[in-house]
Amino acid sequence: MVNYMLMITADLENITSLQPQGGCDDPSFPYFFKVKCGRCGELSQKETCVTLNETVPVPASKGTANLVQKCKFCGREGTVLMVPGKGKLLTQEISDIGKYAPLMMFDCRGYEPEGFVFGSGWKAESVVNCRFIHAFSCSET
Ligand SMILES: [Zn+2]
Repeated sequence: MVNYMLMITADLENITSLQPQGGCDDPSFPYFFKVKCGRCGELSQKETCVTLNETVPVPASKGTANLVQKCKFCGREGTVLMVPGKGKLLTQEISDIGKYAPLMMFDCRGYEPEGFVFGSGWKAESVVNCRFIHAFSCSET
């Protein structure tokens, strides 16, 4: 399993901070991204949407995940589990020096998240840039 941290930055003009409407762990804030298969490298055609409050059971295990999906090309099953409590408010201080703030961590098995797309639901209007990074420091389980 690999943890990915979604990092964001934005041009915060006349805004002091940015976060989802209900905070970084907003249970209904939607995250849209594509998933790349860890076995064959096939990238999903459409963005998939996950939210913290929507979980599904993982087949052949007792656990749940926010996304369970089979690769259309090779049939490998992958899961994505969101890990709350790792996000930080993006402040003007951070964005002014061109740095990113962590927003949400994703525990990905069999898949790699790619091409994040933002929907609405932010507390302030702004152009948001983002990227996924490997979150090595939080991957102890
Ligand atoms: Zn595949």
